[in-house]
Amino acid sequence: MTSLRGKTVRVAGAGVLGLSIAAELGRAGATVAVFDPSPGTSASSVAAGMLAPAFEAGLDAFSAPHLPLYRAARDMWPSFAARMGIVLDRSGALYVDDRQQVVADAFKLRGIAHEVRPEGVFTPEDLRIDPEQALARLRGVAIDHGVAFMDEPITAASPRSHTIAATGWSPVGWAPESAVVTGIKGQIIKTGAAPHEGPVLRRDAGYIAPAPGGALVGATMQPGVTDLAPDAAIYDLLARLLPAEMGAQAFKGQVRVGVRGATPDGLPLVGPSAAPRVWLAMGARRNGWLLAPLVAAMMRAYLAGDDTGPWTAMLDARRFTAKAEKSED
Ligand SMILES: Cc1cc2nc3c(=O)[nH]c(=O)nc-3n(C[C@H](O)[C@H](O)[C@H](O)COP(=O)(O)OP(=O)(O)OC[C@H]3O[C@@H](n4cnc5c(N)ncnc54)[C@H](O)[C@@H]3O)c2cc1C
Repeated sequence: MTSLRGKTVRVAGAGVLGLSIAAELGRAGATVAVFDPSPGTSASSVAAGMLAPAFEAGLDAFSAPHLPLYRAARDMWPSFAARMGIVLDRSGALYVDDRQQVVADAFKLRGIAHEVRPEGVFTPEDLRIDPEQALARLRGVAIDHGVAFMDEPITAASPRSHTIAATGWSPVGWAPESAVVTGIKGQIIKTGAAPHEGPVLRRDAGYIAPAPGGALVGATMQPGVTDLAPDAAIYDLLARLLPAEMGAQAFKGQVRVGVRGATPDGLPLVGPSAAPRVWLAMGARRNGWLLAPLVAAMMRAYLAGDDTGPWTAMLDARRFTAKAEKSED
């Protein structure tokens, strides 16, 4: 690993991407400070924690081309989790609704490992972590490597240090490429009414994932909505996902709300900005947890001047703005 000793880096955002990057850069010897005025509102802290190439890219045409990327990120998780002390749940995922043949056929077509069981279609390809435990570990490892934490925003780039925008769905003026990122509100409910262990249950309307003392049932996708107030959409989803009796109990659960950042092609912006010493790692849509080890490794390689790997062009942070400039010529 090339040393980053002598490099000074400021990271805006203490979600999974900012923390993973900070931990990896600190480990490589950089002097790192993470800035975030409100880490408790990050999408990372409300997510279900699924690392799910199969169910993210196996079923829908928009995401299918991203399967190799998602799998590459998933395959980085065992060593990343071991390094960071994150517990990895390998129980897989189980589709339990009526379209079992369709799901099995789609998995077969895309070469996704699966097994048709009496209770549904199971895949061992999807993993899971507990976001609360994982965020605490990432922060702890970052601190062990000397990373400093500031509870304020970054409002401008600096000529003296590298500055990384890991601000999720929030565009920042000092990283102009971030203007393409838009928000998608997501609501999820933590309930003790549907205790669940083992594989994540996948239904057509959403999922039921294990959580300490109960389950996480989610999640809504509300494009263009960025407020953090619970609304009726989560109760509509619950009604469709859970049997009526259990649903009524689950309504008493704790609704958690986050906003995902999304780009027009559904993939994050990772790499240099056109602005000097500015970098982006944001807009990971539904897959920020899945992609974190890969994004962190790419950022470390960028700053070290190493090979940034096969996903560099696909995730290039300038891919939308460069196109717009070209068409104006
Ligand atoms: C309900 C829900 C369920 C999800 N489930 C999953 C899942 O199962 N698996 C998965 O992979 N993904 C999931 N996601 C998506 C995932 O949560 C996101 O992709 C991921 O958390 C994005 O991480 P991030 O670090 O980019 O941004 P965030 O976690 O949003 O963090 C960004 C941080 O930047 C801070 N910030 C903003 N502006 C500034 C500034 N100027 N200076 C400093 N700090 C700033 C904010 O305060 C925030 O804390 C889910 C999302 C939601 C909402």
